Amino acid sequence: MIIAIDGPAGSGKSTIAQYLADTLKFTFMNTGSFYRGLTLAYLRNEGGGLDGSGSGVTQLPDDPTMIAFARGVPFDYKTSRLFLGEEDVESFLRSDSVESLVAPLSSIVEVRHIINEKIRSVAINKNVVCEGRDMTTVVFPDAEYKFYLDASVESRAKRRYDQGTSNLSISEIERTIRERDEIDQNKKEGSLKIAVDAVYIDTSHLTIKDVCAMIISKIHL
Ligand code: C5P
Repeated sequence: MIIAIDGPAGSGKSTIAQYLADTLKFTFMNTGSFYRGLTLAYLRNEGGGLDGSGSGVTQLPDDPTMIAFARGVPFDYKTSRLFLGEEDVESFLRSDSVESLVAPLSSIVEVRHIINEKIRSVAINKNVVCEGRDMTTVVFPDAEYKFYLDASVESRAKRRYDQGTSNLSISEIERTIRERDEIDQNKKEGSLKIAVDAVYIDTSHLTIKDVCAMIISKIHL
């Protein structure tokens, strides 16, 4: 069974998907990790360190070069963690250098096709809770359950700020969230949109537990 969740950055979908997967004993898949893992592999290949920093790369190469590179990346996804070959790279996926290139990389259509196939092959014959931007629309259009989690820009920025992992002010975080939304909503393929058959939940004024309870009440195993 596939439970697919989409929504913008900061809508709480990773935390909620992980919580649901733990509760239901399903496999959790954070599909942004595949795009982040590919970005990390590319930066390392260009001389970057373990977290991709120090490569000097500020722009992606042309699409055919990036696509050829993506085809050779040995992705694996085990126990809800992304691997490159035998190496668990989960702890390097949120570095500033990965963060700076992952959005343009995820806009390359053929790269999306390569990653979509990886995601589907990991999910095959499993019970999965997956979250991303195009799980309900492109990757698993026939998922048994579909949810779209939303929240206002202000509450998403406040959540990020309260996590204490950013040096930016709330208004700067709001600006970066708006920029990320713009990219996510305008991709040629796999753009962020609400599937007609998805349950829409605005999480702005809800706790994680509230949202999980709402989702679980809709699921019949
Ligand atoms: O969710 P997260 O922030 O980790 O995603 C990292 C990047 O991958 C974002 O730029 C997002 O737009 C992209 N992404 C995507 N499709 C997905 C999941 C993430 O394009 N299914």
